[in-house]
Amino acid sequence: MTPSYPQLALHVAGQWLHRASGGERPVLNPATGAVLAMLPLAGPAELNAAAEAAERGFKLWRERLAQDRYAIVRRTAELLRERTRAIAEVLTLEQGKPLSESLREVGLCADILDFQAEEAKRLYGRIVPPRVAGILSQSVIRQPIGPVAAFTPWNFPANLPSRKLGSALAAGCSVVIKPAEETPATCMLIVQAFLDAGVPPEAINMVCGDPAQVSELLIAHPAIKKASLTGSVAVGKLLGRQCAERVKRFTGELGGHAPVIVCPDADLPFALKNSLAAKFRNAGQVCASPIRFYVHRSLYADWAERFSAAARALRLGSGLDPATQMGPLSHARRLDDMERFVSDALDQGSELLCGGHRVPGPGFFFEPTVLANAPDTALVQQQEPFGPIAVLQPYDELDEAIARANALPYGLGAYAFTRDLHTAHRLGQEIEAGMVGINHFGVSQPEMPFGGWKESGIGQEMGPEGLLHYTEIKTITVGVPA
Ligand code: NAD
Repeated sequence: MTPSYPQLALHVAGQWLHRASGGERPVLNPATGAVLAMLPLAGPAELNAAAEAAERGFKLWRERLAQDRYAIVRRTAELLRERTRAIAEVLTLEQGKPLSESLREVGLCADILDFQAEEAKRLYGRIVPPRVAGILSQSVIRQPIGPVAAFTPWNFPANLPSRKLGSALAAGCSVVIKPAEETPATCMLIVQAFLDAGVPPEAINMVCGDPAQVSELLIAHPAIKKASLTGSVAVGKLLGRQCAERVKRFTGELGGHAPVIVCPDADLPFALKNSLAAKFRNAGQVCASPIRFYVHRSLYADWAERFSAAARALRLGSGLDPATQMGPLSHARRLDDMERFVSDALDQGSELLCGGHRVPGPGFFFEPTVLANAPDTALVQQQEPFGPIAVLQPYDELDEAIARANALPYGLGAYAFTRDLHTAHRLGQEIEAGMVGINHFGVSQPEMPFGGWKESGIGQEMGPEGLLHYTEIKTITVGVPA
């Protein structure tokens, strides 16, 4: 039986709104192209109301003891665990990824919230010895920054809102979150879990609308003290500029173009199996997805043949079918983008080892695609394809592979396979990226900071660092009264 999709609503000033002044738009099932539901869109009235509510909610929430914030965020994690299957089914319906991936994503959200809840109790400051006589105490403390505007994309509709909501709320901030208009229901269910766990209703607002209008209005609103975006580099620069003009805090988790260096001593079957799973997970719509495979020339022919054969054999279909290994792309415009990357690479002399086409029929399916020897001038070598496309290139010397890995303005995820400890150490030191995975792709973990270098971002999420970005530092010195 097909799972049901909820009626969509926005959460503004403590109320779920099924209608709003910005009109409505359809949300589609990417596996079929069918309309799942209509999404109400916020206009300026609801956006202002959400920002004002966040200001009131902040005043209540920041007064709560760290222990209370811990308990409420922990309770949210438990509710997500209880509701995992229901949320995962909605996630797959609106985003397309296989249900097994959605189940893992929601499970990881609960783990992230557990960690962030604990960190609420550890927002330590420090006591500094006075350097002159007559000073009683000098302390450095952290306080929550205030109401936050959060923007998330459609590729991880549970994980990305959970990261932002969990760290902002654990730190004592209130939030207005705008999930992607393509995947609003998953975020709605997560917001409901926070409300059920006891977050004051005005401290957590959820809006959708015209993204440019929403971000412009919220960032300009005097109640909003910080913006946090997970999204593309282009939107990151735009929101970063809007924050900079008002000297508001900004965190940007932006795009990536991850290299994978396969060294001559790599365990080939192990590297192939893990690379294939990482590349085509979520149909390649992952910011830290491996894209550029630099394979040592001694392994290259074998790698090219086995990697493309395995990619060709992947089973595409609805994410609700347990046999599906790769679902559709999340929306129709991604198909045009994939075709553009492939045709440009072929025009510039690249070789197509497999895939390269949209799949005829309903839904937004694109074949797992492997390109060989795309020149550095090809679009796919410069821009994030954000889809099921891998690019293979041989290399001879490690220096050359490292230089090519570091050549782009991106620096989010980067990976390598080697059995040599010295090589592993060197790669860890010399690759310019926020996360480097040697012999595995698991760089996104609740306990570890996740963020990009260069144009891939500013700031981190998760790990203890994630919460710190939702705080301001204050120095307090107390002297002896005269
Ligand atoms: P996007 O930048 O188009 O949108 C991201 C969010 O910003 C959405 O909610 C969007 O509606 C909103 N937005 C706000 N103001 C906007 C404006 N003026 N114009 C357009 N959108 C505006 O990104 P996307 O295509 O939805 O998502 C894919 C991108 O997200 C990729 O570049 C991917 O690498 C990146 N991403 C990064 C991370 C990370 O942690 N670094 C994680 C997942 C995705």
